[in-house]
Amino acid sequence: MISTSVAKEIRSIVGEERFLTDPADLSTYAFDGYCMEFTPDAVVLPENTSEVSSILQIANREKINIVPRGAGTNLSGTSVARRGGLIMPLTRMDQILEIDRANRCAIVQPGVVNAELQKALEPFGLMYGPDPSSWYVSTIGGNISLNAAGPRALKYGSAREHLLGLEVVRANGEIMRIGSKTSKNAAGYDLPHLFCGAEGTLGIITEVTIRTIPLPEAKCTLQAVFATLDDACMTVSKIMDSGIVPSAMDLLDQILIDLIQGYGGVQFPQGASAFLLIEVDGHPFAIEDEAKKIKKICSANNAIDILVAQTPEENEVVWRARRSIGGVFSKVCKTMINEDATVPVANLSAIMKIVLKLRDKYKLKIGIMAHAGDGNLHPAIMTDAQNQEEMQRVDNFAKELYEETLKLGGSLSGEHGIGLAKKKFVPLQFCDAALKMMREIKGLLDPNNILNPGSYIDE
Ligand SMILES: Cc1cc2nc3c(=O)[nH]c(=O)nc-3n(C[C@H](O)[C@H](O)[C@H](O)COP(=O)(O)OP(=O)(O)OC[C@H]3O[C@@H](n4cnc5c(N)ncnc54)[C@H](O)[C@@H]3O)c2cc1C
Repeated sequence: MISTSVAKEIRSIVGEERFLTDPADLSTYAFDGYCMEFTPDAVVLPENTSEVSSILQIANREKINIVPRGAGTNLSGTSVARRGGLIMPLTRMDQILEIDRANRCAIVQPGVVNAELQKALEPFGLMYGPDPSSWYVSTIGGNISLNAAGPRALKYGSAREHLLGLEVVRANGEIMRIGSKTSKNAAGYDLPHLFCGAEGTLGIITEVTIRTIPLPEAKCTLQAVFATLDDACMTVSKIMDSGIVPSAMDLLDQILIDLIQGYGGVQFPQGASAFLLIEVDGHPFAIEDEAKKIKKICSANNAIDILVAQTPEENEVVWRARRSIGGVFSKVCKTMINEDATVPVANLSAIMKIVLKLRDKYKLKIGIMAHAGDGNLHPAIMTDAQNQEEMQRVDNFAKELYEETLKLGGSLSGEHGIGLAKKKFVPLQFCDAALKMMREIKGLLDPNNILNPGSYIDE
């Protein structure tokens, strides 16, 4: 609980209207994109770094938990107050401070929404690589803290590959500036990247310097439909083996195809069991050649239908199917749990088979979406969080899935992070020495464990 005198002190920093304690307000911040609910004691909405620093000084002194938050869209339960305390949304710090075309970078506040940044960069002929499907709402602070990615990561990398520098407020309120605008930087420990994927446990990000990329001159998307999942996986391996680096290669299985059939005019041919969306971008001559080669590989691997979109309008139509997925789950289930198992791409077919086997074993309704070229699988479990017996089967499914993923040389997460959802699996991936070192880093930066406590590195 936050005492009256501490609440008064925080109110004196942010004002009455930016310190929320009304139960209706608190319930808004009790959820994120995962299925668990934790009501915070209060919500504080800072508008600048100095306010963040002053609040942290108080929180550290009083040992009050603080959970930094962006748009709350994470799918792993990592922006809720698991152990009570304050939720601190950074959404009011939403200014794009600089777009530096000459140096191909930009400086933004953490609350800038990904899609807003993309829109602002476009007139400069630039883009920001990470394109999570949540880009219309998720923030750059959240993207960095979870090392978020999207379909384009296959060619351009995740948030980590686009991070140049940060301003961070440490748990004790100290303001620290790390990194630089330069694309090369060999000076000292790589501190900015320590905060990437840290899920708000090491400091609060108040400014981000990101690398930007020139907008590709042209794009071409191929939509290939297969009669078996195995043919689609084999096609992915062959394309990756061909030396072509697509800018995206996403896969949907039959359950998802059936769900989105007819949605927004999307139509798949009869007998479609798997669907690959493959995008190449770059110089028009180069992509024409790459598209031809990819089409040939798809045909050779038994594609039953291939559509090549050449104009931006045609591109939009083929991506509609992929983007419509998020919207369809709410029609068919109460809760959707999106797993994030990631394997080396050559093991894609092997992990798919395991998912199908486990899906039958645990009698769950699961559709599979994959950023296939990255070996990043999102089995979407359509369930009901209120049904304890079913949730037990979901848990058992996840445990076996991640055990098998790690046996195949993979990772617990490709882009969604660990959060509450996968905390119990952490010892499966990290050896004791690595876990100890992570805990030592956390202890050094946040000795009172006030930043997002109960996270994946807490025992
Ligand atoms: C429909 C849907 C589709 C999605 N698709 C993708 C996808 O394609 N790829 C992908 O990677 N993810 C995806 N996600 C997950 C999620 O959107 C991303 O992880 C996103 O990066 C979270 O951003 P956010 O602003 O919502 O952050 P939040 O969820 O609010 O926070 C995420 C984490 O970051 C920390 N944090 C937030 N801001 C700060 C800060 N300023 N300083 C320190 N810590 C901070 C929080 O404490 C928390 O641990 C999807 C989610 C949904 C709902």
